Amino acid sequence: MTSSPSYLMQTYARQPVSFSRGQGARLWDTQGVEYLDAIAGVAVTSLGHANPEIAAVIAEQAGQLLHTTNMFRIEWQEQLGERLCALSGMQRAFFCNSGAEANEAALKLARLHANARQVAQPQVLVMENSFHGRTLATLAATGNPAVQRGFEPLMPGFLRVPYDNIEAVRQAAAQSPDIVAVLVEPVQGEGGVHAASASYLQALRQLCDEHDWLMMVDEVQTGMGRTGTWFGFQHAGIVPDVITLAKALGNGFPIGACLARGTAAELFSPGHHASTFGGNPLACRVGCTVLDIMEREHIPQRAATSGHRLLAALHEALNNHPNVVSIRGLGLMIGIELDRNCAELVGRARDEQHLLITVTRGTTIRLLPPLICDEAQIDDIAERVIRLLS
Ligand code: PLP
Repeated sequence: MTSSPSYLMQTYARQPVSFSRGQGARLWDTQGVEYLDAIAGVAVTSLGHANPEIAAVIAEQAGQLLHTTNMFRIEWQEQLGERLCALSGMQRAFFCNSGAEANEAALKLARLHANARQVAQPQVLVMENSFHGRTLATLAATGNPAVQRGFEPLMPGFLRVPYDNIEAVRQAAAQSPDIVAVLVEPVQGEGGVHAASASYLQALRQLCDEHDWLMMVDEVQTGMGRTGTWFGFQHAGIVPDVITLAKALGNGFPIGACLARGTAAELFSPGHHASTFGGNPLACRVGCTVLDIMEREHIPQRAATSGHRLLAALHEALNNHPNVVSIRGLGLMIGIELDRNCAELVGRARDEQHLLITVTRGTTIRLLPPLICDEAQIDDIAERVIRLLS
């Protein structure tokens, strides 16, 4: 490495490695050492590193037109909006540049919904253990004190209940007439890989209908095939009012989206919300290409099949492991919870197994491999994890 990291703000505890090249599920560091990537940039590079089709599209679009402004029509944005709406059951899209920004748009929709209902002190119901981003609104929505510490006073307007617990939502509904929306992840990723049950999401949908709450589903990590369906909520057979996306939508090119249907899709009018870079021709053309590849190669189905394969291998080898508390997941979003803090396994996996993993909430190994992994790579990930834990 040529430059020192000391000029960077100390927002990350960085690992002592830097990558210079990638291909599919593999990365090479600046010394030429090869690694198997079971993080995928935290659920971002689902179609692999240096995907040639995406690289070609970026180069071509960069040579044609990068950016105009949202004061003009942008054809790639219109196409991406239409295709995402068709896949998700939504009706309109707002494009931005990150997951937090997508959630900010959703939270602004909740405020406009409150305004229309004449609720002066609106509350958005959010979950314990959730993660929604690092902006001031999304960190207040996040159910992790470590994310919030030092940033008080937190933005008001959030009411927190335990995750996957419909009784808690019913009680909140009975006690708080000012609730206007719910924001929920179908699978809590940063929170330790916990999936909500289908019956919970179905009951939540029903409560939203009964109380005129917007059902807002944070699909930033779960969306775009990660859990084995296009979107995590589809496992429950429901349709939310608002969904947020980012991460894999650009396969590493920054793009986020807030999609809405019904009255929620009509809440924004000109002047309400904007983003200079949001939805520019380059980002949206990349998004369209991601969809082309995912549709052609049946990526959500492949994630489901690979996820079963990986989970089965992990269960078979680790179910009786004395330190393994639980092995769980949906699609290629998998958590292995241990009975102790295991943050040191990140470095050991990297240095001893040449495998890139994350540990979330201190005790859970999280695997988020690229969705294009073939069977041999899935088996290789399983073998390296099993060796790591043995
Ligand atoms: N929502 C969820 C569920 C996430 O997992 C994340 C990031 O990990 C975010 C929101 C924030 O996304 P971003 O880092 O792009 O702002």
